Amino acid sequence: MNTKSMLLLVLFLMCRLNLSSQSAQGDGPYSQLIIRGVMLINGNGAPPQGPIDIVVENNIIKKIEVVGYPGVAINDSDRPKLLSGGKALDCTGMYLMPGFVDMHGHIGGTSQGADANYVFRLWMGHGVTTIREPSGRGLEYTLDLKRKSAKNEIVAPRIFAYTGFGQDNKGQITSPEIAREWIRNNAKKGADGVKFFGASPEIMTAALEENKKLGLRSACHHSQLNVARWNVLHSARAGLTSMEHWYGLPEALFEDRTVQDYPLDYNYNNEQHRFEEAGRLWKQAAKPYSEHWNAVMEELLALDFTLDPTFNIYEASRDLQRARRAEWHEEYTLPSLWDFYQPSKVSHGSYWHDWGTEQEVAWKENYKLWMTFVNEYKNRGGRVTTGSDSGFIFQLYGFAYIREMELLREAGFHPLEIIMSATLKGAEALGMDDKIGTVTVGKLADFVVVEENPLKNLKVLYGTGAIKLTEDNEVVRVGGVKYTIKDGIIYDAKALLEEVKEIVASEKQKLNYKILQPGVKE
Ligand SMILES: [Zn+2]
Repeated sequence: MNTKSMLLLVLFLMCRLNLSSQSAQGDGPYSQLIIRGVMLINGNGAPPQGPIDIVVENNIIKKIEVVGYPGVAINDSDRPKLLSGGKALDCTGMYLMPGFVDMHGHIGGTSQGADANYVFRLWMGHGVTTIREPSGRGLEYTLDLKRKSAKNEIVAPRIFAYTGFGQDNKGQITSPEIAREWIRNNAKKGADGVKFFGASPEIMTAALEENKKLGLRSACHHSQLNVARWNVLHSARAGLTSMEHWYGLPEALFEDRTVQDYPLDYNYNNEQHRFEEAGRLWKQAAKPYSEHWNAVMEELLALDFTLDPTFNIYEASRDLQRARRAEWHEEYTLPSLWDFYQPSKVSHGSYWHDWGTEQEVAWKENYKLWMTFVNEYKNRGGRVTTGSDSGFIFQLYGFAYIREMELLREAGFHPLEIIMSATLKGAEALGMDDKIGTVTVGKLADFVVVEENPLKNLKVLYGTGAIKLTEDNEVVRVGGVKYTIKDGIIYDAKALLEEVKEIVASEKQKLNYKILQPGVKE
């Protein structure tokens, strides 16, 4: 290549860089950002509406203006004017939603070997601009990331840190007094809330009371070890603000027993026992729409209690092959994470000792009963949020969040109700609905932009896109989030996912690693 052609190439590359000005690192915030021509799907349940121009100043939404009519050319003179130093983002015909809230987002522990950088890119690449971490590596670790994210020094969703109850305490929490002290210290350190796993009634009562007094929120995974004496209803009455997953809810619905029908050789530490028997739990509870079922639901509704079902994280239980063969594993799943998912007597959530048709069919029935409760709770005005709990059981960050939306659809939610759950309902549950959760003047500029209509097919939100056959009989992929905007900063969502692919590819190269299915030797 001679000097002249080299120069031309450099110029060409510079032009290209200028043209695609949105990067994985994020651009902005701008003194003025105008997002032009979108179809708005707001998180408030309103139907899609467009074309709309949205004006943002720094990271605050200043104006939401309808600029035309479907099928009619937009009159430019009627549109908000771009000021000098401002930025216009042409999103003509694209769909814009408030940033998604993942209400169950563990940033990742050492056992998954996933670092925050990798996890955050997967989330942001799927439009997740806010996460609640229900316990993680430790409060200091999470608060450090939270501060950096708040200043946008790192590419990351905004973070709400709920400390695991008792975490970092010198000894065990053995009395109500110790529980109260731990709760006060947790608040002092700057946590946003507490994540419980269940404890004795005296300790739960004291801890929840103290936490509520301090104005902090709370989540609970009602582990089976404590659930016979303290189920979801006890928690809600004592002031718990949200329940995670589903454990403790069938127990609140028991009519003809007080404990689950455990086989007599059951061992909780054997996860095949734990998850297999859990799959038979919902049918031991009161029947849908029975008197007791209704009474429990009405009481939870009256307490303004939030359900965060995390349907997706149990999906491998009803269809292991689907979860382990998900097409994103090859390029987006880290070797350490893949290893962690493999059948094991040690790793949490790797309960595939002998998992077959019987277990899967039981879980399918379990899901039906569970989904009936969650959908009806929503129908009666209850708050249901969208949470993923990724990093376990073959569920990958970001991708699993979209799968959670699909499962809410299966439960009976209208796609607009799903977007509402993923945005406004999450914001409400965090006490943040004055700042995020809908596209409203005065709120923060957190948006998800996608070229396809997500209401018609939620799969267009997957980073791998949705499959479509063109008029010319060509198979293509459409969708994938295009822009994730957080605090008025525009991120190229696809570039973020490309970075994830690079992280994974370089790990594999280092380890000479190939993803193999369980039990298959190369
Ligand atoms: Zn969790």
